[in-house]
Amino acid sequence: MRLVLATRSPDKAREIREILGGIARLELLTLDEFGLARDPEEAGVERGQSFLDNATAKALHFLRRTRSPVLADDSGLEVAALAGAPGVYSKRFSGRDDLDGQELDQANNRILLERLHDVPTAQRGAHYVCVAVLALAEDRCFAALGTCAGQILRRPRGTGGFGYDPLFFLPEAGRSFAELAPEEKNRRSHRARAFRALAPHLHHLLA
Ligand code: IMP
Repeated sequence: MRLVLATRSPDKAREIREILGGIARLELLTLDEFGLARDPEEAGVERGQSFLDNATAKALHFLRRTRSPVLADDSGLEVAALAGAPGVYSKRFSGRDDLDGQELDQANNRILLERLHDVPTAQRGAHYVCVAVLALAEDRCFAALGTCAGQILRRPRGTGGFGYDPLFFLPEAGRSFAELAPEEKNRRSHRARAFRALAPHLHHLLA
């Protein structure tokens, strides 16, 4: 069965493939692999106020455009000392519309460290959040939530992962997300928890 992954991020696509890798007969195609060109509406799809709104809007937008079943997610970092920010604005936290990829991640990480400069270690708690949505038809969508609790470090550690991973410390592993092997991140992450919760629906479809 072919499922479209509603992302143009190679990092996200790689992680989702690893997380769902155990499901045989499932062919996952990113938007680029599907051959779907960017359209002007695409950038505006993720402007909702919640992860669920954004993931659902993304899934339905690409369901309409590809006429195929779609798996979408919206994710981000919620920092307690910042009242849950950057949350749904995680990707755009730095306000640097001119940057992309690793440069954008570094700008976001710099802003996060600046905002938390005076916050003591005990108050640097944060959660990664991911909402995954499987859209099979306009009126047939399934959603699942995954979270992962950690702490924001004072300086980056590790070179793996992407986004805020070098600053996200996972106490139970004693390492940052960027210091974990990919398999380990993909066992414990917010994204793994959300996509694994959707897996029964995928198994049902393939049965
Ligand atoms: P999305 O593409 O709208 O879901 O954007 C998610 C943003 O949240 C990314 O650009 C990252 O800044 C951040 N983020 C989400 N998941 C992760 C992760 O697993 N590691 C690091 N950053 C993440």
